[in-house]
Amino acid sequence: MYDVNSKCADDFINHEEILETLAYADENKENAELIDSIIEKAKKRKGLTHREASVLLACPIEEKNQEIYKLAEQIKKDFYGNRIVMFAPLYLSNYCINGCTYCPYHAKNKHIPRKQLSQDEIRREVIALQDMGHKRLALEAGEDPVRNTMDYYLESIQTIYSIKHKNGAIRRVNINIAATTVDNYRLLKEAGIGTYILFQETYHKESYLELHPTGPKHDYNYHTEAMDRAMEGGIDDVGLGVLFGLDKYRYEFAGLLMHAEHLEAAFGVGPHTISVPRLKHADDINPEEFDNGIDDETFLKIIACIRIAVPYTGMIISTRENKSCRERALHLGISQISGGSRTSVGGYYEPEPEEESSEQFDVSDNRTLDEVVRWLMQMDYIPSFCTACYREGRTGDRFMSLCKSGQIQNCCHPNALMTLKEYLMDYASPETKAIGDKLIDKEVLNVPNEKVRKVVLENLRLIEQDNRRDFRF
Ligand code: SF4
Ligand code: SF4
Repeated sequence: MYDVNSKCADDFINHEEILETLAYADENKENAELIDSIIEKAKKRKGLTHREASVLLACPIEEKNQEIYKLAEQIKKDFYGNRIVMFAPLYLSNYCINGCTYCPYHAKNKHIPRKQLSQDEIRREVIALQDMGHKRLALEAGEDPVRNTMDYYLESIQTIYSIKHKNGAIRRVNINIAATTVDNYRLLKEAGIGTYILFQETYHKESYLELHPTGPKHDYNYHTEAMDRAMEGGIDDVGLGVLFGLDKYRYEFAGLLMHAEHLEAAFGVGPHTISVPRLKHADDINPEEFDNGIDDETFLKIIACIRIAVPYTGMIISTRENKSCRERALHLGISQISGGSRTSVGGYYEPEPEEESSEQFDVSDNRTLDEVVRWLMQMDYIPSFCTACYREGRTGDRFMSLCKSGQIQNCCHPNALMTLKEYLMDYASPETKAIGDKLIDKEVLNVPNEKVRKVVLENLRLIEQDNRRDFRF
């Protein structure tokens, strides 16, 4: 039975509830009166239930859809301004004992090169990432209890935080690793991770079992209840995501929002981020073999509907998507993007030879971080390398209450400008720097509080003239 508070995945992601939600959405998808009332509710910026958001997602009325897009853009602006947080993935290991049918790291793939970075290799990769300008990493690894042990992760996190090369530093390490125990989550928290990310892949249990035929990941309930254990272990920033293309997108959408509602109900904190990956070509994976692929229009509508359903949750898009799709997605709700990414194990320090590729998926956006930063600024976005909340202990409900009250903006905007300035000074090409300096001059005037503006101006001067770093509000 559906129970948002239950600790059992079958109850909080209840199959019958999703089917009823989809039937309700189908019945009402052209009910203009109801749709208007849902849009009105969304305008209050307090979010929507999975049923309400599912009606909007199903709605085929063009005029209403335009209203949904407009509102998503407005909410994006209200909560995130024109800032876009930058990050990069770092693959630690592609050893994996699972049988996921959509990922080339599945255990039966005998030809893909298997690698696990040593601490020295991590050091080299991190220095290369710092030299690009990154401050925020998402660690990725397959599931292999013998090779990819918790001790290995803890040591790797320690290594990463300890590297100070020139003016570089990784200031926030997020981690995307297999579902684990409360005790292990506690250890990750103590090691100083930012967000624990785990994609559900699909919320449809029957499909899930087929798509994960072997390995520990086959256990749907253990996987789906991982965020509960993470929160019990003290990690209060968790990142959800589904892999669009595995099952029917409307089912996944409802499941995703139900998962968010469950975390909010059970722990008082919704997800910190939601990622929206789409199935892509990779080594022995052909996305054509999966029936549920979605086109760009559907993908963008999903993003807009998530934006208005959970306005306070960051949304992430990776280099799986190409430049033009990323551009449209940014307007509709994305708040974090990766840039200059490598999806292979290693590859930042020294690109892998093509015939030895250990990539998890093909990257569609191959631009360098400098090019991505410049592109964002040319569209008047502020690329932000800010990690202040995590470092000031503003996580979980502290972060959420600031965010929900809109107060976060008093920190985000100045922090974005100061971290962008650091990037421009240390890593940008002359062309990017010129565009960025102009943008900062203009944007600093938009810091509303005069006192804060003065401090920001002084800090910008110190970054430029005194080589000082790491200012934050
Ligand atoms: S998706 Fe993750 S668990 Fe599955 S095969 Fe790939 S790396 Fe392993
Ligand atoms: S101040 Fe906090 S919420 Fe704002 S960009 Fe920085 S880390 Fe993110």
